[in-house]
Amino acid sequence: MPILRQIAQLGQPVLRGVAEKIADPEAPAVQTLIDDMLVTMADADGVGIAAPQVFEPLSLFIVASRPNQRYPGAPEMVPTAMINPEILWASDEKEPGWEGCLSIPGLRGLVLRSRKIGVRYQTRTGAAREVEYADFLARVFQHEFDHVQGVVFIDRVESTRELMTEKEYIRSLQSHA
Ligand code: ZN
Repeated sequence: MPILRQIAQLGQPVLRGVAEKIADPEAPAVQTLIDDMLVTMADADGVGIAAPQVFEPLSLFIVASRPNQRYPGAPEMVPTAMINPEILWASDEKEPGWEGCLSIPGLRGLVLRSRKIGVRYQTRTGAAREVEYADFLARVFQHEFDHVQGVVFIDRVESTRELMTEKEYIRSLQSHA
């Protein structure tokens, strides 16, 4: 049975290290970790989670976009484990978007990200995949990719004036609806 893992909060050194490559995606410990990350992410209502966020400094994250309370506009996508991810290219065209993070609860920040990216990763069965993502999925991938490099979204906010509390963020969405 998968178990809920504790989510590392900003200040934990594990969030600031560069994650290690996974030699064998099919190793039982990796499979267990993926299953635990899936339930931990779902329980926290996240659209992505990276292994360092559950205290495992490994190059692995899950992207699981779906509309939810924290991101009402998110597209639907089957939760996908991405192992040893790489960004092959990123569009010069960038777009600002409000991001949050399970490791930095209650805060949103405006982050500029490439609108389109080409990526490579291994699946949980070890298969190599090359995929292109745009818009929200490109944003989630870049956010999670940052985690395996020891970077968090507030590092990319241009000014502290581009931060807001999650409560105010949700309020602003409702007032524009
Ligand atoms: Zn995050």
